[in-house]
Amino acid sequence: MSAIPQERRIVTAIPGPKSQELQARRLGAVAGGVGSVLPVFAARANGGIIEDVDGNRLIDFGSGIAVTSVGSSAEAVVRRASAQLADFTHTCFMVTPYEGYVEVCEQLAELTPGDHAKKSALFNSGAEAVENAVKIARAYTKRQAVVVFDHGYHGRTNLTMGMTAKNMPYKNGFGPFAPEIYRVPVAYGYRWPTGEENAGAEASAQAIDMIVKQIGAENVAAIIIEPVLGEGGFIEPAKGFLPAISKFATDNGIVFVADEIQSGFCRTGQWFACEDENVVPDLITTAKGIAGGLPLAAVTGRAEMMDAPHSGGLGGTYGGNPVACAAALGAIETMKELDLNARAKRIEEVMKARLAAIQEKYDIVGDIRGRGAMIAIELVKSGTKDSNPEATGALAKACHAEGLLVLTCGTYGNVLRFLPPLVIGEDLLNEGMDIIEAAFARV
Ligand SMILES: *Cc1c(COP(=O)(O)O)cnc(C)c1O
Repeated sequence: MSAIPQERRIVTAIPGPKSQELQARRLGAVAGGVGSVLPVFAARANGGIIEDVDGNRLIDFGSGIAVTSVGSSAEAVVRRASAQLADFTHTCFMVTPYEGYVEVCEQLAELTPGDHAKKSALFNSGAEAVENAVKIARAYTKRQAVVVFDHGYHGRTNLTMGMTAKNMPYKNGFGPFAPEIYRVPVAYGYRWPTGEENAGAEASAQAIDMIVKQIGAENVAAIIIEPVLGEGGFIEPAKGFLPAISKFATDNGIVFVADEIQSGFCRTGQWFACEDENVVPDLITTAKGIAGGLPLAAVTGRAEMMDAPHSGGLGGTYGGNPVACAAALGAIETMKELDLNARAKRIEEVMKARLAAIQEKYDIVGDIRGRGAMIAIELVKSGTKDSNPEATGALAKACHAEGLLVLTCGTYGNVLRFLPPLVIGEDLLNEGMDIIEAAFARV
């Protein structure tokens, strides 16, 4: 584990000279389509700090997009992954299996909602997990249609691009997309025309009506939703929406899939965000936070659904790599030992109080939302609900210059999102909030 002092330290401009040099090399060698939020090159990272190649220490409010919830070099992750690395790096589970894969699947069965019999299959990335959830749902139902939601994000492969709502930057020019994908409304409380309190009931009724009238419930294999929408703007579907959609799926023989790739593994203060409304998904996709930074993803669900594809129908060369599995067991051990669900809830408490004080002073803060350590503010033009991507970008830039790494998101590019590692110290958390407050004063 890197014993990095948990203190912000700025010793050069951001990015500094060494980062600028690396960025110049990168521009010559790395494809232009691969962007970076902040071209500061990392040297070491742990806890709430990323140390760059110039010796600057940045406060991390991004966790590599909700991945390093346990920190970027958590002791148990490093220990278990290193031991596995020395034993063997790969055999391919489809050729010669190993215990770590089985153990991760056992943990997933225990931690995911519902006490029914469950099984899992492991993959490399979130998009791959979503693709496989669709394969499993189609094999089980012998139907084809897939229902997704406004503002949804599910990945960058062909099928998952099609399932993702936002054109730029994810889809533009990359079509044609896979067929049999249908998009319906989601209960976006802040922007629901008749008000947040009506959004759950009205949006679910609209979505169900569209499914029945435009697709036919009997043709739908899967309904897939993020219990808190991530890239779309940290939208929490208004109360009642998820239970209504889940019930409709169950009543109509449709597989209900919760995409918890961003919201899962303690991020929202629960093992999985759908627990807040007691929704028990048929299948659940996980990735990001699962393995402390190593690439691992999973589909977990009802045993009879998971067993629907023919033998050999699921898999992949690297899926459930032994080092990634060892890392996942270390990450899960850390989450349990440090009670990271409680830490996430505490982060929410601190952040929401600080953000409410900022909102009092600045009326461009339209909405404060999210749960646990998945918190966002939606920025608007003064006195309206018109999106304000300019202020969002300027605020992010001002934070970056002070050594606070923040991310933006949202269909309209006007959401500032905060995803600190769950192990971040409260001093750093508050210092990060000070920087955000100062950025408002400047912008
Ligand atoms: C990040 C994300 C994905 C895609 O995961 P990758 O590992 O980038 O392929 C899918 N769904 C959700 C909700 C995500 O946040």
